[in-house]
Amino acid sequence: MVASYTQLLSRRYAGRLDSDADEFIAFAVDGASRMQRLIQDLLTFSRVSSRAQELLDTSSEAAFQQAIMNLRGAIEDSGAVVTNDPLPMVVADEMQLIQLFQNLVGNAIKYQDGGIPRVHVSVVADGSRKWLFSVQDNGIGIDPIYFEKIFGMFQRLHKREEFAGTGIGLAICKKIVERHGGRITVASTPGHGSTFRFTLIGSERKS
Ligand code: ADP
Repeated sequence: MVASYTQLLSRRYAGRLDSDADEFIAFAVDGASRMQRLIQDLLTFSRVSSRAQELLDTSSEAAFQQAIMNLRGAIEDSGAVVTNDPLPMVVADEMQLIQLFQNLVGNAIKYQDGGIPRVHVSVVADGSRKWLFSVQDNGIGIDPIYFEKIFGMFQRLHKREEFAGTGIGLAICKKIVERHGGRITVASTPGHGSTFRFTLIGSERKS
C-alpha cells in the first residue's frame, strides 16, 4: 500500500507541487521500495526453515538452469557469460537449491567494476558421497578480513549507491547449505574475483 500510493503520488503530482515536494516524494518512493525488498528477503530467509521441503534426489543441473532462467534479465543487461560443468544429482530441496545458485550467480554478476561478468560453476567430488561446488567470478573480489562477516545478516561491504542490496542474500545461502548438512566458504583476491564454494551430499542416483 505504502509503495503503491507513494508511486501514485509521484506519477500524478510530479511537477505540480514545488521542487522540495518532488524530492520528498522521490525519497518516500525509494524508501518504500527498499522496505518492500527488505521484507521480501527477510521472508525468504525465514522460509528456509518454515517452508522447508524434504531433501530428495535432485538434479543440480536442472536447479542451476532454472536459476539462470530467473536471472536472465540481469544476464542480458550486463552481457554476463555464465558457464558450467555438467552438474551432478544431489540430495536437496530443489527450490532452495535454485535459490542458492540464484543468489551466488546474481552476486557474481552484480559485484563487478564495469567489465563483462564471467561466471563459472564447477564441481569436484569431495570424499565418497559429497560434492564440492564452486561459483567463480571475475568481479571486484572481497578483502579476506570480511570472508566470515559477509555471511552474517545485514552485512554489506558497500553503500547502497554503489551496489543495491539488503545484505541478506548470503545469510540465506548459508542457512540453505547448513540445512543440507554442508558448509559454504569464500576465497578471493581483491580485484581478481571471488570463488564461493559449498558442499552437498551426492545422490546414489546418477540421473
Ligand atoms: P547484498 O548483495 O544484498 O548486499 P549479500 O548477503 O548477498 O547481500 O552479500 C553481502 C556482501 O558480500 C555484499 O554486500 C558484497 O559486499 C559482498 N559480496 C557478495 N558476493 C560477492 C561477490 N561475488 N563479489 C564481491 N563481493 C561480494
